[in-house]
Amino acid sequence: MPADPDCIFCKIAAGQIPARVVMQGPAWMAFLDVAPLSEGHVLVIPKDHYVRLHELPAEVAADMCAHLPSLGRAVLEATGAAGYNILQNNGRAAGQEVQHVHFHVIPRQEGDGLGYRWHPKSYAEGRAEQLHARLTELLGT
Ligand code: 5GP
Ligand code: ZN
Repeated sequence: MPADPDCIFCKIAAGQIPARVVMQGPAWMAFLDVAPLSEGHVLVIPKDHYVRLHELPAEVAADMCAHLPSLGRAVLEATGAAGYNILQNNGRAAGQEVQHVHFHVIPRQEGDGLGYRWHPKSYAEGRAEQLHARLTELLGT
């Protein structure tokens, strides 16, 4: 997958613009977010340009995800945070601003005001069964 010359994360991956890298492997890197939601906010990216998570080769996704526990542990220890969110946005509708796959590791404190409240809904009669059937068909499970 070639780099996108207009992509800020491709430029970081290529060392063309600086980033405070905290950990990396041949296919991925983790660095401090330049505009953190909280201190210690880290981003984890593949070095190659993929826009959304489901476009990533499974082995690259696995390699990145395998390092989330170490990153989470280090972020907790370094910041004294009480918790952290792993956030991963796909598509503008989901809040993805940088169009290169990334995981956020966001340190949290009780009452930090960042919030993260979803509004659960319920299925109309028969809709969950329909979706379950379609998903298992697509997944071949
Ligand atoms: P998104 O909204 O796409 O999920 O998150 C993009 C994240 O990338 C934001 O948190 C933003 O602060 C971060 N970001 C954007 N440009 C840069 C940059 O040049 N360097 C670093 N380190 N982070 C960036
Ligand atoms: Zn890119």
